[in-house]
Amino acid sequence: MTLEKTRFLSYICPHCRQSVIVEKDVFSLAAAPAHIKCPCGKSELVVEFLPQRVHLTVPCVACGREHQVSCPTHAFLREKALAFSCASSGLDCCYVGEEGPVYAATARLEQAVDKLGDPASEEDGAEKAPFLDPVVMEEVLSEIRDIAARGGSSCTCGSKNWTFQVNYSSVDLMCTHCGAQMRIPAATADDLADLCCKTTLLLRGKERE
Ligand SMILES: [Zn+2]
Ligand SMILES: [Zn+2]
Ligand SMILES: [Zn+2]
Repeated sequence: MTLEKTRFLSYICPHCRQSVIVEKDVFSLAAAPAHIKCPCGKSELVVEFLPQRVHLTVPCVACGREHQVSCPTHAFLREKALAFSCASSGLDCCYVGEEGPVYAATARLEQAVDKLGDPASEEDGAEKAPFLDPVVMEEVLSEIRDIAARGGSSCTCGSKNWTFQVNYSSVDLMCTHCGAQMRIPAATADDLADLCCKTTLLLRGKERE
């Protein structure tokens, strides 16, 4: 496969909650920092090429802050869909990649964002729910338990021992042997449907020699 000449980038504007998806020429991105603005003018995604990495400043719809994220340049240029996520909510906040996968991932994030409460109303002491969607989370956890009970979860390091951490809208599986991690989204019905199709969960840890 040859290098793509353009990349699609997307995020959801924290102010107006529109999806912002643009196609950018790789050479112009590399030449100068790009400021990708929401049509409402209140947020922008900044993309900057550093010597070995690409640095992005992403407005986050889930927590309302900006996230500083980066990835190796080759990943930015080649991956079908790279996802950057919000550390405090576990939701994705930005995608980079090919047109189809980026549009699909963004559509899915829109569904999750629809479940976010109005941030303004949460400030007057109303208790924040522990999960974005408790029903989906419960189902995802029970599905993970089922897969584990069948012996379907393992790590490429050869270990079958793992532990997990439950986040706001995802579950992180961790190999207790090598520390490899895998994030399972638990935000929408599609996330659950994806997980239900799986018979095994494979953590990508150290390859066994
Ligand atoms: Zn906007
Ligand atoms: Zn965030
Ligand atoms: Zn492992």
